[in-house]
This record gives sequence, C-alpha cells and structure tokens, in this order.
Amino acid sequence: MNFCSNPSDLKITDLRCVDIDGAPKRCTIIRIDTNQGISGYGEVRDASSKTYALMLKSRILGENPCNVDKIFRKIKQFGGHSRQGGGVSGIEIALWDLAGKAYGVPVYQLLGGKFRDEIRIYCDTDVDGRHTGRDMGLALKKRMEMGFTFLKMDLGIGLLLDEPGTINAPLGFIDEMKKYASHILNVQGGSVEADMVKHQKSYAIVNTAHPFTGIHLTEKGLDFLENYVREVREVIGYEVPLAIDHFGHVCVEDCIRFARRMEKYNIAWMEDMVPWIFTDQHVRLRNSTTIPNCTGEDIYLKEGFETLIKAGGVSVIHPDILTCGGALELKKIADIADDHGVAVAVHMAESPVACLAAVHTAAAMHNVLALELHSVDVPWWADMVTGLEKPLIKDGFIRVPEKPGLGFDDLNEEVIKAHINPKIPGYFLPTDAWNTEFSNDRIWS
Ligand SMILES: [Mg+2]
Repeated sequence: MNFCSNPSDLKITDLRCVDIDGAPKRCTIIRIDTNQGISGYGEVRDASSKTYALMLKSRILGENPCNVDKIFRKIKQFGGHSRQGGGVSGIEIALWDLAGKAYGVPVYQLLGGKFRDEIRIYCDTDVDGRHTGRDMGLALKKRMEMGFTFLKMDLGIGLLLDEPGTINAPLGFIDEMKKYASHILNVQGGSVEADMVKHQKSYAIVNTAHPFTGIHLTEKGLDFLENYVREVREVIGYEVPLAIDHFGHVCVEDCIRFARRMEKYNIAWMEDMVPWIFTDQHVRLRNSTTIPNCTGEDIYLKEGFETLIKAGGVSVIHPDILTCGGALELKKIADIADDHGVAVAVHMAESPVACLAAVHTAAAMHNVLALELHSVDVPWWADMVTGLEKPLIKDGFIRVPEKPGLGFDDLNEEVIKAHINPKIPGYFLPTDAWNTEFSNDRIWS
C-alpha cells in the first residue's frame, strides 16, 4: 500500500538526484522525499543539468507536494526553454507521483481521467555512417516487425556532406562543420556533451541558427534526398506513417523546396525544420506545403505553443513533458491544440520515469497521436523501474499503469547503479548545500 496516513500533513523533506548515462542519452532522475515515508520520482530532461532542479530545493522544502499547482507557480519563473525547463518540469512530475501515492490514484486520474488504455509509441530510428535509403528502410522494417505502428527517421543535410555537388555554403563552412561540429548532424545515439562544444568554433557553429548558416541544397541534393525516401518507402510500403526529423540548419526557403519534393512520399510530419521561435517562418512553411509542420520539443510553458498554434504555424506539436513545464502544463498545451485542430505527438528521450509521466498525460489528452521512444535498442531501459508488467512496450504500445502515482513500485537500484554517469558519480547523495539557497523571488516591485 502506498497510501500515506495523512495527505493533508504531507511535507517535502528532501530532494536528491542520480545521473545516468546511455539510456541512450544522459539524464538525471530526481527523488523527492517526505515526512511520511513516501517518495516521488521525476526527471530532468536529457542532456540537461541537475542544477536546474537543485536550485529549487529550498523553494519546495516544507511544502505539501499534493499542492502541485501552487508549487509549480512558485518555481516556474526558474524554468526556461529546452534543457532549462528540466528542473521545474522534473519536480512537477515528482509532485504528481507523490500526490498519486498519497491519495492512492494513478496520475492520469488526477489529470482528468483517461481517453485510452494504452499509448501508441513511435521509435526514433537512425542508421550510423554513410548509408542508403534502403538501409534505413530495412532498419524501419525491423521496427515494424517488433510491432511498431508509427515510424520516424532522421533525414537531412547530414546525408549530403560527403556527396559532391549536393550542398552549397560559404566556401570552407561545410569543412568546418565536419571538423568541429559533426555531432550536430547525428546525436541520436547519445547526448551533446561539454567537450563537443568546448572549442570556440564548435560552439559558434552549433549556435548558428538555420537562417544564418548560408547553407543551400542544390537540385542534385534534393534529388539525392528524394531518392533516399523513395527507397525507404519501397521497403516499408506506403501504409505506415513516417515522420522525419533533424533536417539541419537550413533556411526556410530551402525547407519549402525540400518539402514540396517530399509530398508524394506521405510524410506524417516534418519536425523542427526551423527554430520554433520564428513563428512567421513556420506559418510560411506550413502554408507552402501539404506536409504537416511540427515543432515544440524546446518550448517551455503553454504560451509559446499558443502563439504558434494561433498563428497557424503548426499541424502537429511536439512538446516534451520535461521541458514544457510538466504534466498539467502539457495537458493545458494539448487542450489549446485540441481547440485549434492541432494534433500532439509527445517528445521523449529519457528513462521510464519520464516515459511513464508522458504515458499518463497522453492518456488524459484528447488529441494525442503517439509518444516518442529513443530506447528500443537499450536492453536494460525498462528494467530501471520495478513493479510493471514486462515487456513494457508490447506491439508498439505502452499500457497505462493503474497503480498509484506514476505506476511503478520503485527504481531498480542495481540497474541504476550499473549505469550511473561516470562523470557525475553518486547515488542519491545528500544535497544539503542547496537547503538554504535564497533570493528575493518576487518578480515585480
Ligand atoms: Mg526532434
């Protein structure tokens, strides 16, 4: 039984972390302890920093974790876009886990109940090194044979870098990209690490947004990508949805040229073609092609989604529960999208803690398409938690857990300890140094 004796007197007493790596990315699992012996789990987003959670510890100590919205409004000023949203969002999830355990109900029930008993999963699929569309098609076909009903692959300028005459940029820029920032073209298997951006040129290239790189695709480059997708479709057929991601840092005009070439291959959505902050460019892109336009994994809070949705910039949004502000904010974002006929695909690249939080929230959404998974090829991924029916992913779906909170019994200490990030060692070590962190948090005078 997880019920605590008196939810009204529940108080937060501690917040601790463990950093894992290889799941397939690095991420931080957080644990919030209470005065009544129950703990809640959350997670800071992939490739983020636990500091974003730890700096909030002094602000939540002594609070009743069941007052999720009250605590969220207290700490949300300390979140930001992309990885900066990880602390606020991760804590919010741990609060829902605690509230569910305190009252003996699953998180989806606290979010308004469920629309479905299982969540459709789509898995990111990548093929290392130089390869053909047929190679990618065969990798995707294997996913289908595992039961997955929705596919996504990377497709972009990374495929063109070693193909003469396919890409055009200020002379020398492509060579510098290959030398200093090759990881931005393919980081599917892992996280961006500090040493990848420590060189001044690496940092500058990684932080040059799409409109400013000066990269263009030639007709030969578009032919190459079109042939690649045709080969993929020849292997997997035309009946399964296929989304594309990681096109590369290219201006919106070339995105439009590319999209028009791709229309006949029935692309489910194209993702993050230009930065989400450029609302007008998303509107232009969406209005220039019949391929659904999608973005959102780096947007913190509902307002950023609302702007894009109301401007008509997206057909599909792609929020990450560990960036957007957590479960209740994700539910609110989905509801805004629902009102405007926009579908939700949920971004997720972390441990089962984040996955199950997303599963509960997706269950409570009206308009969800599918939930992402990056970890199909990580054999120990589902074993990080105990108390769930295995396999966790069956025929491309995850069943919505019915146990209180996020629905798993506990972390599997042995598995977690075997995959602690060697650069950030320690298993839920004391964090007392953060107990007294303070600033005057009022944001008006
Ligand atoms: Mg993506």
